[in-house]
Amino acid sequence: MSSPFTRTVRGMRDLLPDEAEAMRRLEYIARETARLYGYREVITPLVEHYELLAAKIGEENRRRMYVFKDLGGRRVALRPEFTASIARLVVTKMMYKPKPIRLFCTGSLYRYDEPQFGRYREFWQANYELIGSGRPEADLEILSISRDFMEKTGLEGYYFKVGHVGILRGLLAHEGIGEDEQNAIMQLLDKKEWNKALEIARRSGASGRCIKTLKELFEIREEKPNKATERIMESVDGYEEAIRAAGNLEAILKLAEDSSLELKLSVEAGFARGLEYYTGLIFEIYVPGMDIALGGGGRYDRLIELFGGEPTPATGVALGIDRIALAMSKQGLEFKAEEEGRVLVIPLTEEAVGVAFEVSSILRGAGVLTEVEVMGRRVTRALQDADRRGITHTILIGSRELKEGKITLRDMRTREQKTINLEEAVKYIRENID
Ligand code: AMP
Repeated sequence: MSSPFTRTVRGMRDLLPDEAEAMRRLEYIARETARLYGYREVITPLVEHYELLAAKIGEENRRRMYVFKDLGGRRVALRPEFTASIARLVVTKMMYKPKPIRLFCTGSLYRYDEPQFGRYREFWQANYELIGSGRPEADLEILSISRDFMEKTGLEGYYFKVGHVGILRGLLAHEGIGEDEQNAIMQLLDKKEWNKALEIARRSGASGRCIKTLKELFEIREEKPNKATERIMESVDGYEEAIRAAGNLEAILKLAEDSSLELKLSVEAGFARGLEYYTGLIFEIYVPGMDIALGGGGRYDRLIELFGGEPTPATGVALGIDRIALAMSKQGLEFKAEEEGRVLVIPLTEEAVGVAFEVSSILRGAGVLTEVEVMGRRVTRALQDADRRGITHTILIGSRELKEGKITLRDMRTREQKTINLEEAVKYIRENID
């Protein structure tokens, strides 16, 4: 069992046809959503310089990167997320394009996570980035895209967990706590380790007042945005930066309410994400009964500048295709293969094989899914096999058909068959499959 020929590498999966189809359909929905919002697709490399990917990904994710030297001695890594690549692409190739820039990408990502339900070492995301606007409506647009995508999956009860990194960082910065300590605190909050986070804050010199404020913030989990921002405002009283950030959160949530998007929210003031580049609104998407995020995103206003570009605000979201497929199957929402005609062309003699290929090619040209019998089965066995595999029509070609220039068409559902010319058969099949 331990042979490398009998198993995939731990954390890596084969996707069988139904799973691959579900994945591609979700990707299709994501691409269609991108089109409707004016997001153009870009394709970035799977392999990037380690330093680029590691710069702002956060300690936890950094330790889980697939890092290696290529044959040229470069230290490279498999991408664990898209945003760093997008920021690099914008800085080097699109910096002076009119703003906003709306980009979409999708593909596989790699993290050496501990494999478990919904957590793999190779997984897929659909990613949307809105670059050039620092305004609340840009944040709302990203929420709105996420919502539209989720609506199209049919998933019920999904909600957005929302927070604002600016509030927490504003508070800590006011206390003179440096970026490294702030990052360590954010990492702990991402793991819901509130007490450890408080401990680091204390050790980094946070005042008693600051600790009290943090504790209050960690308690805030509100479905009503007004109530949430009111409580946050009260807690951060006197901390200018944090007040400004809370005002920004309030403005975004107000717009969300005015937009009638009817987003289901849980505003959590102590919520942080593992990625280090966030500066403003952050969010994750959940469904009831599954405590892993289906997607996540937020504002990252300084990343493009950090990578050498002009100061450029930006925001985005990554939707986890694998987990969304899992959630759908938990809710009984599997994609059903569409009812469509499937034709099997069966040559009854050696001489008919060439014509069978010709006929199949004409059928495919007419848009009909067509297989040719390639197992050399006799007709009875071939028909049995056709039944088993959901073939709707068979076309039989023997010496009589060859002589007459016709084919025998059998409707597998009614078991009727008739010998007709090919044009008639194509017409019949097309009329009888939709
Ligand atoms: P992140 O890039 O960490 O913001 O993650 C965005 C989304 O990607 C998450 O909400 C998940 O849906 C998905 N994701 C992240 N890590 C994994 C993983 N190891 N396996 C499957 N999906 C993942």
